[in-house]
Amino acid sequence: MPLTAPHGIDRAAHHRLDEAWLAAAWSHPRTRVFVVSGGQVLIDENEAGVTELVTTPSFEAPLTESHRYFLGTDEDGVSYFALQKDSLPGPIDQSARAAGLREAGMLLSPREAGLMVHAVALENWQRMHRFCSRCGERTSIAAAGHIRRCPACGAEHYPRTDPAVIMLVTDEEDRALLGRQVHWPEGRFSTLAGFVEPGETIEAAVRREVHEEAGIPIGHVEYVASQPWPFPSSLMLGFLAQATSAEITVDGEEIEEARWFSREELREAMETGKVLPPYGVSIAARLIELWYGKPLPKPV
Ligand SMILES: [Zn+2]
Repeated sequence: MPLTAPHGIDRAAHHRLDEAWLAAAWSHPRTRVFVVSGGQVLIDENEAGVTELVTTPSFEAPLTESHRYFLGTDEDGVSYFALQKDSLPGPIDQSARAAGLREAGMLLSPREAGLMVHAVALENWQRMHRFCSRCGERTSIAAAGHIRRCPACGAEHYPRTDPAVIMLVTDEEDRALLGRQVHWPEGRFSTLAGFVEPGETIEAAVRREVHEEAGIPIGHVEYVASQPWPFPSSLMLGFLAQATSAEITVDGEEIEEARWFSREELREAMETGKVLPPYGVSIAARLIELWYGKPLPKPV
């Protein structure tokens, strides 16, 4: 599953406060650096047609007026840094292009997608937390991008991750419940999802969200897998959930339509283009495939 596979990078968090170590790692000739800007990176195809993250040695990296995030080391001891800048550098060669996580997450290796998702999540957090949430003073970056410190009240702020649940609901006939959000393009259906609220377990959040959005009561809930989803700062927690009744009442605010699909109905709807699948990189697509039993059909 994209963005969830083990990727062999040790985040080496114990080095983040060690300025001497970071300086040595940065200037090491084998260190690799890439720029992240507005959630995008540069990607390129190599001679074998494999899409890769465009990285440079640090001595070629455009450090001026950028923030440096240390992302970790690989099993060969190579260090990886991301530079957060206001814009991406000009393409290094003509075939390189800018890509966001929805596209690059599908194309890059698990290792490079993992580095990218770490950098994008840090960038989103940094952009939205420039001021101290305790006293309002402007904060500064520390710990190689992983802490913001307040000079006025001394508070340390850490990157936040907002848990969200996403669930494939099935009924007694093993049909799947898919819904349409109000602002989605016509025909796009996906699993229901929502944020975990304060003081709530993730299982309770699954039951509450399905009931709120589709009026369906839920019995058994089973955790499947998680996926970092920095749009801007979510962690998607994927579930399978069993409905105890099939009668749908949509809320009409977040979800404008919800329907039960048998596998045959979903195949027909997707092959004729009446139903568009969720984004390929998202855990929603994987949850639906888990129920469907194979890759989702394409329009024919
Ligand atoms: Zn403060």
